[in-house]
Amino acid sequence: MQIRAEHLTKLYGNTTALNDVSLAVEDGELFFLLGPSGCGKTTLLRIIGGFEQPTSGEIYLGGKAAGKTPPSERDTAMVFQGYALWPHLTVRQNIAFGLEMRKLPAAELNARVEQVLKELQIQELADRKPNQLSGGQQQRVALARTLVVHPGGFLLDEPLANLDAKLRRDMRLEIRRICKDNGLTGIYVTHDRAEALSMADRIAVFRNGQIEQIGTPREVYRRPQTPFVANFIGETNLRSGKLLSRESDGSALLETPLGVLRSRVLPDDAKPGESFTLSMRPEAFHILSDGADEANAISVTITNVDYLGEMAEHLSHDAAGGELKFFELNPAGTMRTGEAVRLSIAPDDVVCMKEKK
Ligand code: ATP
Repeated sequence: MQIRAEHLTKLYGNTTALNDVSLAVEDGELFFLLGPSGCGKTTLLRIIGGFEQPTSGEIYLGGKAAGKTPPSERDTAMVFQGYALWPHLTVRQNIAFGLEMRKLPAAELNARVEQVLKELQIQELADRKPNQLSGGQQQRVALARTLVVHPGGFLLDEPLANLDAKLRRDMRLEIRRICKDNGLTGIYVTHDRAEALSMADRIAVFRNGQIEQIGTPREVYRRPQTPFVANFIGETNLRSGKLLSRESDGSALLETPLGVLRSRVLPDDAKPGESFTLSMRPEAFHILSDGADEANAISVTITNVDYLGEMAEHLSHDAAGGELKFFELNPAGTMRTGEAVRLSIAPDDVVCMKEKK
């Protein structure tokens, strides 16, 4: 089921939770709403599910305006952060509840419950009550209870927030598999960028009730359109840069505090004289051996070394006194504070962004 939001605004008193938000989630897509706390992600999810009404704007479910249709009559189902399982019902009864409300014939109801118990590998837990389950098991029951109704729209509000790190990683794969195996249209709220990058078909990055950028994980990470997105989706080094010239090969030269740098990622309409913010990720730098002559060479002095085994995180000072962070993979562990090194970065990894108005 396609899910569309058109010009949604939601005010709570003086707080603007959503400010003219429009987006379209395609049938079968796993779409993420990502952003810092308080940026309006949950509000949007609750409006889609019918738990809140927008101040203005409309939601379209499968092309039809949702209007004031209550949650129980929408073809959507939500997995809440706290799971919201019925404490007095067994796992099986919790899962069957939604189907009983829909008055499904007993044979079909039982078949569907058995199937979802099997799919989520919780058959052995079927006769337990929620207080006899671990956090991860409760999570599975909450997913099962939502999946069993075969919703056209599967709405997930930080579903992994209460789990430990290992279980979160396991469940990421599992939720994505379930969505894809069942052809579900999923909308998933999180502020965890690793969750979004590893699971999403597309991500909308929110800031202050507005969408800052929509794209695939790769697009949002490698081609952020604003400094906010560059910073929120990963670690980065930001610098100002003035466009000096555009070359015939599509690259451009920019004057920056790190010297003149070549970039291959800039807006089509960029003109000489225009100023940009440059984003350069720490993992994009490589260390130049002595005397190597390479484009985009930058001299820095190491100020801190964090040796982590498979990689080292280095902080350094550039010639203009700015702090530059870079990562070294498979480090020999010989880098020392105070050491001068030369780094280089590919023009494809120097991303020029305009600040959004
Ligand atoms: P989090 O990740 O912390 O859940 P969020 O991005 O989901 O944050 P929302 O819960 O959508 O953010 O809240 C957006 C804004 O609206 C916040 O400033 C919040 O305080 C406010 N807000 C949300 N619900 C209400 C409410 N029922 N009454 C008043 N203000 C609200």
